Amino acid sequence: MSRKKILEVKDLETSFFTDDGRIAAVDHISFSVEEGEILAIVGESGCGKSVTSLSIMGLVPSPPGKITAGEILLDGQNLATLSEKEMRQIRGKDVAMIFQEPMTSLNPLFTIGNQMMEAIQIHNKTWTKKQAKERAIEMMKLVGLPRAEELFKEYPHQLSGGMRQRVMIAMALVCDPKVLIADEPTTALDVTIQAQILKLMKDLNIRLQTAVLLITHDLGVVAETCERVIVMYAGQIVEQAPVQEIFKNPQHPYTKGLIQSVPDMRYKKDALYSIPGNVPKPGSIQKGCRFAPRCEYAFPRCSEENPELYSKTKAHTARCFLLDSENEVVLHAEMGGQVNGERIAES
Ligand code: SF4
Repeated sequence: MSRKKILEVKDLETSFFTDDGRIAAVDHISFSVEEGEILAIVGESGCGKSVTSLSIMGLVPSPPGKITAGEILLDGQNLATLSEKEMRQIRGKDVAMIFQEPMTSLNPLFTIGNQMMEAIQIHNKTWTKKQAKERAIEMMKLVGLPRAEELFKEYPHQLSGGMRQRVMIAMALVCDPKVLIADEPTTALDVTIQAQILKLMKDLNIRLQTAVLLITHDLGVVAETCERVIVMYAGQIVEQAPVQEIFKNPQHPYTKGLIQSVPDMRYKKDALYSIPGNVPKPGSIQKGCRFAPRCEYAFPRCSEENPELYSKTKAHTARCFLLDSENEVVLHAEMGGQVNGERIAES
């Protein structure tokens, strides 16, 4: 049975206006998240993942940033057209966010209880202090915090990193949001705590059916947690597929490089793989495929035209000319089936 699309991002463009001109950090991307789904957005730093999440939250610093095109439909309501005052009614209630570093997101001067009750009472103005406290403690227990009543009176510095991140998750879920955005939620944690937090997020997703948009550079996190994956590169979506499909059958050379870069302790390798080169700096993007300077399969057309998203299957698309069936015919005819000395995979 198909699920309702709770978040639809349509042709979104977010730009920054600098002394060097307008730079589109997010360049006409479209995707949707269904109720109860966990969707990951992956890519290296500077690919536009975090600007996408800040655009949804209405938190793009303005100036210099601004949503310059497209729609962000949350349960049908276009967030891109709302004023800051209107967004304040939505943020934290209908769409909430967990940030990377919980210590910088929690106020060190207030107790955990104060901060949780504030998050509740902003959106539930008629609630009494007793009701807000009961809800806060209920959520603290739900995220597995031990001795919740005592922690309620403690300050952030008295908690470990993992406990602080659990508090952040409790605060984000306290108003029962439709969509939870988690921006690198485990990056600042050590590996065992990371695994616990990911398990917690997955359990809560199943239990509460909250849609989750997980922003990460870590494909290991994606494999354990998500149903579908979007890969972003230089502000654009370059591949989109169900999680198993993307690991088994990646189509875009960038996705292949990201998968190859995941350390695998089962195999002894002389050196860990890394994709050569760097993500182009915003404002220095050349014509043609944005990945071409780093792509081992690049051929002349790649430096002339920016590829569209081609369909491998209904649920799997990739922005690469190697998926253009017409292109393949030309290539095989002109180059004897070779691209940069390598034969194109037969499909
Ligand atoms: Fe590489 Fe060309 Fe595909 Fe871009 S379009 S990813 S340069 S093969």
